[in-house]
Order: sequence, then C-alpha cells, then structure tokens
Amino acid sequence: SLSIGIVGLPNVGKSTLFNALTKNDALAANYPFATIEPNVGVVGVPDSRLERLSKIYDSQKIIPATMEFVDIAGIVKGASEGQGLGNKFLANIRETNAICQVIRAFEDADVTHVDGDVAPSRDIETINTELILADLQTIEKALPRLEKEARTKKDKEQLAVVEAVQTAQKLLNEGNTLFASADKVDLDLLRELHLLTAKPFLYVFNLDEEELGDEAIRARLRDLVAPAEAIFLDAKIEAELIELPDDEALELLQGLGQEESGLSQLVRIGFDTLGLQTYLTAGPKESRAWTIKKGATAPEAAGVIHTDFQRGFIKAEIVSFDDLIAEGSLPNARTAGKVRMEGKDYIMRDGDVVEFRFNV
Ligand code: GDP
Repeated sequence: SLSIGIVGLPNVGKSTLFNALTKNDALAANYPFATIEPNVGVVGVPDSRLERLSKIYDSQKIIPATMEFVDIAGIVKGASEGQGLGNKFLANIRETNAICQVIRAFEDADVTHVDGDVAPSRDIETINTELILADLQTIEKALPRLEKEARTKKDKEQLAVVEAVQTAQKLLNEGNTLFASADKVDLDLLRELHLLTAKPFLYVFNLDEEELGDEAIRARLRDLVAPAEAIFLDAKIEAELIELPDDEALELLQGLGQEESGLSQLVRIGFDTLGLQTYLTAGPKESRAWTIKKGATAPEAAGVIHTDFQRGFIKAEIVSFDDLIAEGSLPNARTAGKVRMEGKDYIMRDGDVVEFRFNV
C-alpha cells in the first residue's frame, strides 16, 4: 500500500503521534504480515459508511482501506550534508509517497527545542531547506547523465525531461519546493529522480490544548503552508484519547470543540493527499473498502481485488452508497432503478458499492 513519511525536527511529538496512530484500536489494521519494520505502521482509514453497510448486509466483518505511516527519524539542520542520521533519513523518505511534516507549536519548558525556541515558520523553513538541498544534490548528480543521453539519442521525450530538470533546479535554487511549484514544472517528467520536494506534502501542527480551538492561530498557521493541507492536534491529547472508551473520547473531544480526533483527520486527509479514493463491496461475510487511485476505471478497480477480475472483467453492478442507504437494501435500490450496469470505461466514484461480473 502507499505510505506517508512522518518527518519533523526532534522533540516535536512525532513518536507520540506515531505510537498513538499504531496503537489506536479504531485505526490500527489487523495486518497479516508480522515482519513489518518497527517504524512502519499500517492503519485503517476511518469510514463510517462501512458500519452502515454492514447493517444492511448483516456482514460478519468490516475491513477498512489501509495505508502506511513511516516514522522517519533524523532530520536536523545539515541532514542533507549527513548531519544526524542524514543519509539514512534521506533513503527512508525517498521510498514514501507523501510527506507529513510535524511542526511544533506547543510551548513546554520541559521539552527542549533543538533551535532554542518554538517558531513554526522557522522550523518549516529548516525542514524545507534540507529537503531542497537534498533534491539539488540529486539533480547535480543526475543532470550530466540525462543531458548526455538526450544529446546522443536526440529523443524528444528525453529532451523534455532535461528541460524540466533544469527548471526544477532553478526553482529549488530560488528556495521553492517542487510540490508548491507544480504550475511551473511538469512533475511527471521528474518522476525518475524521486525528488523529495516533488512528493505531496501535508502538515500537522502540534498545538497546546488551549490553542486547538483558536481560529486566529489556526488561520495564521494554515497560511504558512497553503495550499498544502494543515491538520491541528495536540499529540498528548491524541495519546490520551486512544486509551479511552469511545463515548468518553467523544466527550473529551467535544469539550475541546473538536468533532473528530486529530489522528482520524490525519489518516483521512493523508489518504486524500495520496490521490486515493475507495469503493465498497458488501455481503454477509464482510463489508469492505478497497483502495483505488482517483480516476481509476471499473476494470482497474476490479484488479485491486484480484488480477483475474480485471482480466475477465465483463461489467460492474453499481449503486451509490447514498442511494443504497436511501432505499434500504439492494433489491429496493434495483426496483427504484438506482442500480446501474457499468462497462469497462466507467470511471469509479468515491463510495460506489460494487459487484463485479467477470469471466474466469
Ligand atoms: P519526537 O522527537 O518528535 O518523536 O518527539 P516525541 O514524541 O518523543 O516528544 C518529545 C517530548 O515532547 C515528549 O516528552 C512528549 O511527551 C512531549 N510532547 C509531545 N507532544 C506534546 C504536546 O502536544 N504537548 C506537550 N506539552 N508535550 C508534548
């Protein structure tokens, strides 16, 4: 599955957050592979639709979509030059599909800040600078080879890649991340370089409890990172929430003026940042969410269940979740004309409830 790397300076609350994510009963997926590394956590994507679906179908089990979080230690000033865990850090982060920066906004005299005081905008700058420097190194290494290849092959596509890499180099030299420069350079052409700042970013601000509900503070922090998504939470509260029964957790959240836990927001928004969506299947055995890329076709969606389903795809019987709920059952939805037969060109929509027909 696709993964999100959690990065941030030391002492910002990364481990607290990561541990809460992976210990959370509501999110922690029952992962069949035991050998997963200690810094990798597989979590279920919260989806209240599954519960309702399982009632209609009297399903024995609910299986949510999953995604991975990787706790990436070791970013400090100078990481791109090998400071701290520099190179290991860069290798780990290169393998992830999106980057979640945890930024400290909480004050606590007992928790030292590596750079002396709490300053979110400076910390964002520090991390982005390291990622930008790492990308510039990657480009400096790769560019001579790419230029030579393009010259000898006189290949149009190769030339376009070289041009894009040169543009990227210029943007990075001016202090821009590539993710925020998608209007100035075609990120697809840079793909083979696995550049760090070309990955989608999202931000978690770790706030004091009292500041969580302060819209002025949230707006100021949100402005620092727009157009990337910002999530506001208190990692210490998140660690407490997972220890509480559901009703008490909800009470605590509501007392803080929150509707959804920070962890749940992080997983939900992270999933979206990865460019993913879900479709649903349901029956007496299980109600289940499956992960597909936004824009996937019906046969591609079938292929997520089994490659044979994709190869032998005939058609998909589809009802939207909302229509199914409104009608109360699949037979009712059929009678009401809400169930559609879709062919191989159909583009899946989020929340489609599906049954595939295929040849074996
Ligand atoms: P990491 O180095 O980024 O992984 O940070 P940790 O998760 O290990 O947290 C460092 C210290 O800060 C620990 O003592 C945490 O208990 C504390 N901490 C983490 N989040 C918060 C928070 O939201 N508020 C306060 N006051 N302390 C926190």
